[in-house]
Amino acid sequence: MVGDRCFSSAGSGSCPIVIYLERERLAVIKLQIVGHQGPLKKLIELQDRDRIPPTLIFAGPEGVGKKRAALAWVQRMFCSEVSACGECGHCQRVAQQQHERLLLVSPSGTQIKVEQAQQILSFIRLRTEQGLRFVVIDEAHLMNSQTSNALLKSLEEPPEGVHFILVSSLASGLLATIRSRSQTVQFGGLSDQDLKAIVPHAEDWKIRSAQGSVARLLKLEDDDFTELREEAQRWIKNLAEQKNLMQLNLEKPIWDDKESIFKFVRVMQQLVRDHLYRDHSLEPLIHGDAGQDKDAISSRRWDEIFQKLIVLERDLLAHRDRKLAMEDLVIHFQSELGSVNGSPHGLA
Ligand SMILES: [Zn+2]
Repeated sequence: MVGDRCFSSAGSGSCPIVIYLERERLAVIKLQIVGHQGPLKKLIELQDRDRIPPTLIFAGPEGVGKKRAALAWVQRMFCSEVSACGECGHCQRVAQQQHERLLLVSPSGTQIKVEQAQQILSFIRLRTEQGLRFVVIDEAHLMNSQTSNALLKSLEEPPEGVHFILVSSLASGLLATIRSRSQTVQFGGLSDQDLKAIVPHAEDWKIRSAQGSVARLLKLEDDDFTELREEAQRWIKNLAEQKNLMQLNLEKPIWDDKESIFKFVRVMQQLVRDHLYRDHSLEPLIHGDAGQDKDAISSRRWDEIFQKLIVLERDLLAHRDRKLAMEDLVIHFQSELGSVNGSPHGLA
């Protein structure tokens, strides 16, 4: 390969052919990964300069494609075309997680258990495979202490040719000694444009709501939000106007389960945030399409409601009774109204 020879003899940046080749490769790898150009560029450089660290941490928010990037990078290592073509035998076996020189370990339930550490140790001790081998540990912060300790030595100093990629949305949860011996590649959230490219039919408000995470967006796509959003709009309108508070249905099935009530409270927060943003001519609005007409409610009022919703979310996270927490929210605004009207019973 003329390009590679030129690269090693002339050094980086001085050979136009190499630069051209690099762009081509980035373009090919990008076919399978949307966004993350910074981290990808860094990874390609590490590979092309033969500087692959023994242990890497792929850190960044949940659901943005870190594991996918790890597998694409491994594809590029083994690919017959050195491009993560996605089509050659190597690329396909990596994609199916059946490549003889790749081991992908994912949490079993909520932990990565010590039996999985044994599986990793057996894999890295295999001497029959020549060349590079990769162990990708997904959500590596879920290694329990037994697992971390069993792997510590290998992570600090893997056998010749073995490289670890620790994928984590909570890298601070990894042992400090592992972190200090690893090189971190930081991933960020995806742009709205990237999300749109991945899920082309997603509504704009869902894309903004997903805040850069494909996983979150797909979850939003799965759920039917229409009813929930209408109910949330009714709640914040009534709270803001201090009207019809008693008509707010505290028996709604929305808080039957924990996940639903968090969803509900977060949608309320987003709607209130949108009111505040609109009052200050800020962008973007998350629910810009939700038909929020200009109203007579002051920003101070919205801000107060927002603060209350933050407290509510905190209470719920602290496992407070869901219905009681919602009742408290209504009672707060109701008693406030009661004191304004001089009636001790508020709307009752
Ligand atoms: Zn390939």
